[in-house]
Amino acid sequence: MKETPLLLDGIDREILDILLGYVKAESITCSGGEKAAEDYFLSYFRALPYWKEHPELCGSYAAARDPYDRAVAYAMVRGCGPDTVVMIHHNDVVTTEDYGRLAPLAFSPAELERELKKIAESFSEEEQADLRSGNWLYGHGVCDMKGGGAVQMALLARWAEQVRQDPASLPGNLIVLAVPDEENLSAGMRAGVSLLGGLRERMGLRFRMMINSEPHQRKDPETGVFSVGSVGKMLPFVYVRGCMAHAGKMFEGFNPVGLLGAIVRKTEGNMTLSDTVGREASPPPTWLYCRDRKIQYDVSMPLTAVGCLNVLTLKRTPGEVLEQIACLCREAFDEVLAGLNRQYAVFLQETGRPPERLPWQTRVENFAALCREAEEKHGEAFRVSYRQERQRLEELLARGETTLLDGNFALVDHVFRYIDDLSPRVVYGLIPPYYPNVSNRFLSGIPAGDARIGEALEAFTERAFGQRYVTEEFYTGISDLSYSSLSDSGRIARTLRESMPFYGGRYELPLETLEKISMPCINIGPWGKDFHKLTERVLKEDLTERTPRILCHAIDHILRG
Ligand SMILES: [Zn+2]
Repeated sequence: MKETPLLLDGIDREILDILLGYVKAESITCSGGEKAAEDYFLSYFRALPYWKEHPELCGSYAAARDPYDRAVAYAMVRGCGPDTVVMIHHNDVVTTEDYGRLAPLAFSPAELERELKKIAESFSEEEQADLRSGNWLYGHGVCDMKGGGAVQMALLARWAEQVRQDPASLPGNLIVLAVPDEENLSAGMRAGVSLLGGLRERMGLRFRMMINSEPHQRKDPETGVFSVGSVGKMLPFVYVRGCMAHAGKMFEGFNPVGLLGAIVRKTEGNMTLSDTVGREASPPPTWLYCRDRKIQYDVSMPLTAVGCLNVLTLKRTPGEVLEQIACLCREAFDEVLAGLNRQYAVFLQETGRPPERLPWQTRVENFAALCREAEEKHGEAFRVSYRQERQRLEELLARGETTLLDGNFALVDHVFRYIDDLSPRVVYGLIPPYYPNVSNRFLSGIPAGDARIGEALEAFTERAFGQRYVTEEFYTGISDLSYSSLSDSGRIARTLRESMPFYGGRYELPLETLEKISMPCINIGPWGKDFHKLTERVLKEDLTERTPRILCHAIDHILRG
């Protein structure tokens, strides 16, 4: 293995060239542009001598049942032995909504910067200073995350050239994966797991580390950040079925809005639903969607009210989170019933009637239990109609005519048609996507050097650039590193099958393969600001000087250390 400086000599220009072309692909998530980014990635590598000689080491792997026909693109350099470092980046970007009038320039960094300077007085002081400094590169996706992608691509090309000169110079293998759909359901990385599983089998690879190059943010401008884990995310839903009554007969019905409100109050921002690991805690849940399902005004209560909350995890499994939510739903149900009964007692007293209690009971169950009840009563008739309805909704989803949220609740509605006991109840479950939490600290049996990669890189950056870096346990921005390892895949698969109505169709996770390819992970990316926004920018020095050197050192540390 040659010295790093030689390998990286003059790489800055290449990184910028790759990046500008990559940005031009306009690969907004769930648009044809994602195919353009895939083509750009593949054309880049296929034009290089190494991949002309080894065309089998570059290609694409389709995401299953993907309505946009997207695929994960990959390129690989084979050195000696089975040890393999996998670099990943996503090449999709969010919409250019925030650019407003400047949207047509979002993918043209130089022109965009000129226009930004004209409206600079509307920016914060920090934004103005950055713009004046000339130290930052502007453009949609330059930071999140085609910048990191370009660094990985340029580096892989350099390694390829080196291996062509001297096949023994690389004591392992390097793969770069470019994945679409990270900003939505991670269809790309889910396919990436299957791709890696296949490469591992075919080539006998041993995966040592997955490196992502998402941008990092800084609290202190002088301190960079590595992450050796990634936060988990799930989207539990709550479907409250009430009992309809005319508003004038309030106590004859059960309004689901009151109960959903109580559930929201118990869970929103509730730190008992947050995880703590070391000195890091996941932000508590917040409700992303919450509404009754009444179609138009009349004087009856809504029949159902639904919502879903975003839950971030550092160590809990989906089963544990759902159990906690069920518990809080039961408490809320008890409290709502107690409150209603108190009011009902007053009402009866004031109207001179004998005391009695409302007929409702607390009832909270997961989606699978609801389906079992329908199946027990209606057997094959239910099974057939459920399959048909799910198929119909899947087709609407594929055509973009419904959303996962609406489709999910429509499917629960459908199951209720086969439920005979229509007393109020809460049904809970999960809506895609699911991102497992990952952390190197929870992985057993990894080489000591790999487990301490953060410290090794901190020492390197201090030595090489006099720059302090710290290592955090979790990347909190949600990333595809969530698909770098998993344990207990069987139990998680069971929870998802039982609780996620749309699991196993268009949305599925190769959980068993993910457990097999499990490897530690790290995020090494350039410093960036204002992702997804008009003033998105990446620090040029990080992009072209520091990040490639840190990445190169990390590879060196893993494969030679
Ligand atoms: Zn990103």
